[in-house]
Amino acid sequence: MIAAAREAVDLLVQAGNTWHFDGTRQGLHDRDWMALRFLARANRFSRTPSALAQFVGLTRATVSQMVKDLEGKGYLERRRSPIDKRSVTLAVTPQGERILAGDPIKPLVNAIFALEPGANKFRDILRQVLDGLSTTQHSHHADTCKDCIFLAGKAPELPRKMQAEFTCRFFRAGITRGELDLLCVNFERRESRKR
Ligand code: SF4
Repeated sequence: MIAAAREAVDLLVQAGNTWHFDGTRQGLHDRDWMALRFLARANRFSRTPSALAQFVGLTRATVSQMVKDLEGKGYLERRRSPIDKRSVTLAVTPQGERILAGDPIKPLVNAIFALEPGANKFRDILRQVLDGLSTTQHSHHADTCKDCIFLAGKAPELPRKMQAEFTCRFFRAGITRGELDLLCVNFERRESRKR
């Protein structure tokens, strides 16, 4: 069994060449692609420089330079946060979305999609692996609201304009059904799913 696990890791490392590479592709480094990809899928609480730094595993200073470069290329823009007017949120521009259509990880996405109906199983296994790593290495990974410990139903105590189908007890904010599948760096797995 350990040999199979070792073999799986070797294969995973080789698949990693699609998202981890030297130099640039379409003028962007692998970390730039990672940032754009994340911001295109992040929820409104995680589209911030600090959440991005946490996700890509770089310092705030490095991420700040990366954001400036991506802004300069027209792929990202900074906006005043609707949640806290003193902070900034990052938004992928239409030009950024266009370049993401040629994301270097697309061949890998297509290869996994071709596993149907195994793609869902593959996703669930990878999620279990990440959950296991989070427990043993005291690390943290981003995931969606659906299995987050902080997700609850409607909170009647929230002001009417903040009401939505669901509530995030961490941010004390409404979550719409459409936001359930977006990535959040503050995600915490419900105990029942932890391994
Ligand atoms: S419920 Fe969890 S994943 Fe969703 S916004 Fe709140 S902290 Fe993030």
